[in-house]
Amino acid sequence: MPKRKSKEKTLEAKKTREEKLSEDERKKKEEKALKKGRLEKPLDEKVEEKIEEEVGKIVETEIGEKEKDEIKIEKGETEGEKEEEKKILDISAGIQIAKGRRGEFILWKPVTELGKLVASGAITSIDEVLDSGKKILEPEIVDKLVPNLKNELILIGGRRGKGGGRQRIAVRITTTMHRSGRRFTSNAFAVVGDEDGLIGIGKASAVESRAAINKAVDKAKLNVIRIKRGCGSWECGCDGSHSIPYKTKGKSGSVRVVLMPAPKGIGLVADDESKKALRLAGIKDVWMKTFGNTGMRINLITALFNALKRLYIYDR
Ligand SMILES: [Zn+2]
Repeated sequence: MPKRKSKEKTLEAKKTREEKLSEDERKKKEEKALKKGRLEKPLDEKVEEKIEEEVGKIVETEIGEKEKDEIKIEKGETEGEKEEEKKILDISAGIQIAKGRRGEFILWKPVTELGKLVASGAITSIDEVLDSGKKILEPEIVDKLVPNLKNELILIGGRRGKGGGRQRIAVRITTTMHRSGRRFTSNAFAVVGDEDGLIGIGKASAVESRAAINKAVDKAKLNVIRIKRGCGSWECGCDGSHSIPYKTKGKSGSVRVVLMPAPKGIGLVADDESKKALRLAGIKDVWMKTFGNTGMRINLITALFNALKRLYIYDR
């Protein structure tokens, strides 16, 4: 008989304990367990997925058809696809439209004083903003004032090619060692410009490559400057604005860049990445000379940007 009693007592004690545990505590325990489960397995899966994505081998089972299409366009293998790529980048650059597609429509709410002035229509040109000397802290300001702004990605990353050498890609992946293995970060570098004297550069990093690209484009918008163009070539002698007015130099890291005015018809005498930036700045003919480790394209384009920036300072 006493044994039975003891059993009953233990059962009762259990029940009371369970009752004492409030619902909130139970939920917390469950969440903790879930978190532990998440941290251990899916991290490896994510890393693998990312490697596959960056190397270009898409795992069909894990990635849906829509995402696949986006990745294809991101690469831009053929000319037709390149145009689509630009369109998609333009859409993703404007936050308002990108969120509208997904159903979460958030209108731009200006936070800064300058943003409020632009949104209300008190300021109508980008030159007013640049002349005022105020810092642009919201990319939407540039979006509104320069609707025909174009962006281009600089191929800063690389992966090993089959026959040796490197194939350049837009996103640079860096690794950090951690207790749990390697952690990957994507870096992107973007140039924006209206092909008419306006240019900006931006660099950003994020866990996902697409996020890094969007961040870089937004940052480039904040760094927009107006450059002075002209024709400083003695061979040409026109009063146009197809080149730069005088020789200029720029520096970043070990890279030095020298730009010299060229006559009409010469074109851009520069490497492919610098050509992108010069085209967006609206320069048609120029001679470019570089020194230092120009394989580090972040420094190359930054040096070019600094050289163009000096034209602006001289003008003042
Ligand atoms: Zn000329």
